[in-house]
Amino acid sequence: MARITYRESPCTSALNRVTGMPFAWSLNPYTGCSHRCAFCYVRSFERRADRPSDERYGTNVRVKSNFVAVLRAELARRSWRREPVAIGAATDPYQPAESRYRLTRGTIEALSEFRTPFHILTRGPMILRDVDVLTAAAQRVRVSVNVSIPTLDPHVVKAMEPGVAPAATRMRVVRTLVAAGIDTAVAMAPILPGLSDGMESMAAVVRAAREAGATRVWAKGLYLQPGTREHFLAALSAEWPALATTYARLYRRSAYLPKDVDGAIRTTVKELAQEHGIGDRRAIRLAPTAVEAPGEQLALGLGAASSAGACTE
Ligand code: SF4
Repeated sequence: MARITYRESPCTSALNRVTGMPFAWSLNPYTGCSHRCAFCYVRSFERRADRPSDERYGTNVRVKSNFVAVLRAELARRSWRREPVAIGAATDPYQPAESRYRLTRGTIEALSEFRTPFHILTRGPMILRDVDVLTAAAQRVRVSVNVSIPTLDPHVVKAMEPGVAPAATRMRVVRTLVAAGIDTAVAMAPILPGLSDGMESMAAVVRAAREAGATRVWAKGLYLQPGTREHFLAALSAEWPALATTYARLYRRSAYLPKDVDGAIRTTVKELAQEHGIGDRRAIRLAPTAVEAPGEQLALGLGAASSAGACTE
């Protein structure tokens, strides 16, 4: 286990304006993520900021100690239009630090109070601690959760998502949230060529998502920018050296998978979802009872999002 250092440091703003995404704003109560996924696209940001993007990434987490107070002040402004907010676009809001600092919980309470719709991206089972505030919020504003589960293969999970709970545990999170009435999707992202893009691997995730009651499933191929690329390829070579040439070929021109390869992954998952009858089958459908705010009619799902869908990476 890596040793993680937590650094409490106040922030001056909480909400970040976002363009080109299905949500208008994002927020992150923490900087850095101790889940330390090998494929995390934030490694590339760290590289550009001249911070460590290698095995040291995620071992130093900034805790924005005054985050909830700053957020509340921003939400209280007369100019705030209550547009949808993504929680966890650049760090996992339910990484271990949240157990102690409870900034994500405070964030949910604040967004709900100020009638601001939101969605959450996470790999962290700790979200179940907050079912009470999530269900309360979902009766005031639109709420959706995307739980990232790209594969059920324990070997791939251990090597590529070293700080994250097993896939089966995350699938139980989906089941519990759906049973509580929360709109919860399974994000199969990123799909890794040669490791999780096989038909049986993807079908197994979709079947498990169906059994858990997921309202949607969606998939996206691996994105490998400089900073992420070096660390990911080293992790890959340590476990699956024979795949090095495959990745060199697939990513020789771009940080993205070739369009036909990525398109085939998305199409296959879409077809599997149809075949297995994935859809909103919640027994309890929590929904806002009040008149919706201006931005609430916007789609909150990330399936259509570009590769910038951080924690899904
Ligand atoms: S992919 Fe998400 S969970 Fe994994 S290290 Fe990055 S922000 Fe954390």
